[in-house]
Amino acid sequence: MKYNDLTSRFLKYVKQNTRSDENSSTVPSTQRQVDFLNNLRAELEEIGLSDIFYNEKNGYLTATIESTTDKDVPTIGFISHVDTADFNSENIQPQLIENYDGVSAIKLGESGFYLDPKEFNSLNKYEGHTLITTDGTTLLGADDKSGVAEIVTFADYLIKHPEIEHGKIRIAFGPDEEIGTGANLFDVDIFDADFAYTVDGGPEGELEYETFNAASLKVEIQGKNVHPSTAYGVMVNASLLAIEFNDRLPKNEVPEKTKDREGFFLLTDMSGNVDQASLSYIIRDFEKDGLTRRKELAHQIANEINESLDTDRVSVTIQDQYANMYEVMKDHMYVVDLAREAMHNLDIETDEKAVRGGTDGSKISFMGLPTPNLFAGGENMHGRYEYVSVQVMEKAVDVLLEIATLNTKGEK
Ligand SMILES: [Zn+2]
Repeated sequence: MKYNDLTSRFLKYVKQNTRSDENSSTVPSTQRQVDFLNNLRAELEEIGLSDIFYNEKNGYLTATIESTTDKDVPTIGFISHVDTADFNSENIQPQLIENYDGVSAIKLGESGFYLDPKEFNSLNKYEGHTLITTDGTTLLGADDKSGVAEIVTFADYLIKHPEIEHGKIRIAFGPDEEIGTGANLFDVDIFDADFAYTVDGGPEGELEYETFNAASLKVEIQGKNVHPSTAYGVMVNASLLAIEFNDRLPKNEVPEKTKDREGFFLLTDMSGNVDQASLSYIIRDFEKDGLTRRKELAHQIANEINESLDTDRVSVTIQDQYANMYEVMKDHMYVVDLAREAMHNLDIETDEKAVRGGTDGSKISFMGLPTPNLFAGGENMHGRYEYVSVQVMEKAVDVLLEIATLNTKGEK
């Protein structure tokens, strides 16, 4: 369906810089996200939502669309994040390409960069669509301003159409998804929904309810540094031990050589000299046991290296980051079924693959609120080649409306 303010709303949102900052310790990580949420709050007031509340403790802005039915139906939540990824987001100048022909390369402003279907064949499926792109100097921020614009447009539409029967709906806009911390402080009690969806996925049809299990691995190595002239039988080179550690990991279990449901170790940072060295990894696996095996392997390698040395010099610290939301979702598949049925009714083919990453919903699901992820429309997220189709954003709003409507058919 066409929605009057969807495109203008999206363009207004993306022009406001909301980049998060992983080196900040404040919540939200940047003041610009607070500024954005303040503007959004004013907009929600204007639209006429209830219970509008900005929670300073976690940076979430929440509101209610009141029920229009006497039936006792579950409360649904819709959630998106307002921050954008770690890429230039100063002075975002979106371009609107109407009636795209599906084959031409799109010139990204004067930047010298092109969005070319030869390189990005996803463009082929957008013949006849209105595309929004960057000018080549910034990201677009469709991740996740498209989700924000869709949820606000959905809320606006329902309030203007009280004749549409639906239960109570809760909406939330939060910070810092891109730095992996935003949902840590999400308050499921305040949100008070029976189940929810993040609207933060990519192309049309995406429906995600399975994510990686994730942990971080830090390896610290203490060497023994002496002058090379007296090094014989004495020196222990921490950097060489670091290389040995990495060499003992399975060579093919890295992101560039794994796909689908295969897990990996990713070396994200290394530093070292003779005296000290450190390695940072992220570990990912769809199976809980698989993640455990990877953790055990890291400990085992450290032990084996230590046993070959004069003293324990290799230490391993592992921290869990998030878990596969399917652990929770498997007992709440009606939430996924509702989204499937909604898309089916709208002739949208669902694309249900396990996310090789995490979503805010992985954390929120484990807090007791089952929260799969719905498509928001963005393509090539996190950089200058990011773009989104207006028609797909419209379909995303259609899906939210259909979910809200279908939900009144099943009693609590
Ligand atoms: Zn996102």
